[in-house]
Amino acid sequence: MYHDIYISEKSVKIIGISATEQIMTERKPLMNEAIIRIENVSKTFTTTDNTVEALKNINLEIGRGEIFGIIGMSGAGKSTLVRTLNFLEKPTEGTVIIEDKDLSKLSEKEIRKVRTEIAMIFQSFNLLAQRTVLDNICFPLEIIGTPKAKARERARELLQIVGLEAKENSYPSQLSGGQKQRVAIARALANNPKILLCDEATSALDPTTTKAILKLLKEINEKYGITIVIITHEMTVVQEICSHVAIIDEGVLAEHGTVEEVFSHPKSKAAKKLVFMVNHSTPRMDGRRCIRITFSENSSFEPVIANMVLECNAPVNILLADTQDIGGIAHGQMILQLPEDTATQEKMIEYLKRCNLEVEDEDWPCD
Ligand code: ADP
Repeated sequence: MYHDIYISEKSVKIIGISATEQIMTERKPLMNEAIIRIENVSKTFTTTDNTVEALKNINLEIGRGEIFGIIGMSGAGKSTLVRTLNFLEKPTEGTVIIEDKDLSKLSEKEIRKVRTEIAMIFQSFNLLAQRTVLDNICFPLEIIGTPKAKARERARELLQIVGLEAKENSYPSQLSGGQKQRVAIARALANNPKILLCDEATSALDPTTTKAILKLLKEINEKYGITIVIITHEMTVVQEICSHVAIIDEGVLAEHGTVEEVFSHPKSKAAKKLVFMVNHSTPRMDGRRCIRITFSENSSFEPVIANMVLECNAPVNILLADTQDIGGIAHGQMILQLPEDTATQEKMIEYLKRCNLEVEDEDWPCD
């Protein structure tokens, strides 16, 4: 059973460890229990000249302790969805339940309280330019009335967690993008959130800095059990740290599951496009039957395909070949367009199966 543990200053002194470490390490996640439930959420924006259905009947559960990626093309509805999670954006229909709290049934005051448990970081960092790093981190603590000395002590602990102790007196303009995001993360953790929402948090960073920030987020998730929801348009971000992923396409939840499931067997057109980063202009052959072959070990397709073509004496069209590292395991996929002749098709499939490859028919979007 999961319990929140808030420890008084007195007990912290007795056991002689820092408040931040104690509160955050006690928060052990129980995986698979939903911490966020999105139920039938739709959001329509009405402006003077048009109406946009940004979200259409989204149903999704996010488990406690997960790192959950929400991915989609620009304009798909990701930011709107993430803003409904703390009711910064109120759904037109449906609701969001955080733990056992149905946000649609709460007063504004109660929603503000729930929001203190849901922190957020952004692409643009949103730091206060006139305040030092330390004072930026103290800011949310000041708002809830934490005494100055205690807030500073806590801010220093947080700076240690994000590896920026040396920068406490710097101003945001004196920091790199990665350092600014570390400060934003420290500030987000100040009130011991249960959930951290990251809206394109690494999109303004170079690939090396992105990796370092993602590593930090993973450490925070593992060490303190904070559930992390990552909104991104970058598949590599999901691949790097997420355990689960949802794909949003034109306001609709196209697909969701573990990253491994969705990456190795994408079902929806949107997922296929994102996973393989291809467009619709794939090559054409007369045959319309496509198959997907999959492996999950360190082997190579190439000799198998070459031998199959030789044995069956017919060409195939390789529509896609892709290898990805998912959770340390190499997953390879290839999509083949087979010749028109059904007897040759069956012979090829039989050959591939004999080579112990997983084969399934594929409804590939060739048009
Ligand atoms: P994403 O984050 O995936 O890029 P958004 O959630 O920002 O997508 O936007 C989804 C759709 O909703 C877009 O068509 C966008 O123009 C529209 N939209 C978002 N916010 C508003 C708003 N405040 N008013 C009107 N339309 C909006």
